[in-house]
Amino acid sequence: MKATLVIENIKNLLTIRGKNRPRKGTQQGEAGLIENGIVAVNDDKIIYIGKGALPDGIEIDETTIVVNAEGKTVTPGLIDPHTHLVHGGSREHELPMKLAGKGYLEILAGGGGIHSTARATEKASFEDLYKKAEKSLNTMMSYGVTTVEAKSGYGIGSFETELKQIEVANKLNRDHPLDIISTFMGAHAVPEEYKGNSDLFVDKLIKEQIPYIAEKNLAKFCDVFCEEGVFSVDQSRRILNAAKINGLIPKVHADEIVSLGGAELAAEIGCISAEHLIGASNQGIEDMAEKGTIAVLLPGTSFNLQKGTLARARKMIEKNVAVAISTDYNPGSCPSENLQLMMTLASLTLKMQPEEVIVGVTINAAAALGIEDKVGSLEVGKKADIAIFDAPNLDYMIYHFGINHTDTVIKNGKIVYTRQGR
Ligand SMILES: [Zn+2]
Repeated sequence: MKATLVIENIKNLLTIRGKNRPRKGTQQGEAGLIENGIVAVNDDKIIYIGKGALPDGIEIDETTIVVNAEGKTVTPGLIDPHTHLVHGGSREHELPMKLAGKGYLEILAGGGGIHSTARATEKASFEDLYKKAEKSLNTMMSYGVTTVEAKSGYGIGSFETELKQIEVANKLNRDHPLDIISTFMGAHAVPEEYKGNSDLFVDKLIKEQIPYIAEKNLAKFCDVFCEEGVFSVDQSRRILNAAKINGLIPKVHADEIVSLGGAELAAEIGCISAEHLIGASNQGIEDMAEKGTIAVLLPGTSFNLQKGTLARARKMIEKNVAVAISTDYNPGSCPSENLQLMMTLASLTLKMQPEEVIVGVTINAAAALGIEDKVGSLEVGKKADIAIFDAPNLDYMIYHFGINHTDTVIKNGKIVYTRQGR
């Protein structure tokens, strides 16, 4: 078979090979390293992966693109399984207030916080939102990311704005080299007009909005912010069950601040993943392990909020919960698209070993999006989504932090990013 693209002389090739399923327990630390590796691609698929030179039967000609990865580290294209990609505005003006000791609720009461993003998102045109999200996607791609999940959720009562966000994400999925997978998160905050009467808003989500999203095939997932003062466990249960009935796959922002029983709920409902989990109880972690719910941890958010509390990644790995890592890119609690930085934070703050981290941003992140049979590891027959980093090994990539290690990004077998001046 003819190779259209070959990556050769790879110092450290991290394949994450094995069965197409989330890695838990000790398997979370198995990165499938090949030293002096080589990868061959035909069109958008991987046709060979191994050591040294290409075997007989894999041909190259003058049209084959050959990339020399001498001294470099190659991984599956990174996957960011939790972002609030599409939104209007930014909230840097809240930084001096935060530093002066104002709490989130005080900033919110002064018209800031999530409601200011909601207003900016409502005001922004489709074109404005598209351009802003496209710029963020380009940044993500430059950090080695090839697939991104994108949530709606800044409509906060305005279904029209929710639809605008989702349609921007879906158009970017068609136009941009990266894959963007949409999540409907109409239950992100309780709209002002429903304060004290949030069950009525939940009814609206269940009876009107979720069926509409599902019927028009606008999103794959449905997510809820299950938190004290936002949506209760009972309300979240109703919303997620409605999502399931309508054919949307449930996810949940669970136990981010308070230990409310969100992790237990995620397991009970059969959510594909539960996110944040800083306050997840021991029972919640056990339940998630039993049901195979993936933990999507967001160490950049904990770093940015500086509350001093962290998700218990070690406990989750010990209890056989598959852990994925994500940016949570959003304008409030984590304004960064840099998944490489999150890898360092996962390692230093959550005490995850580098191999556990790379599994968390590849196969486990893919599994959190239900696409582990196509991407998330480098194997014959899988999609040629590949990242090449200018780092001699994985440990170096995570240890030498705050810079961009990306050399080249390949999506569907095509080079979509190369570092300038390479
Ligand atoms: Zn989030």
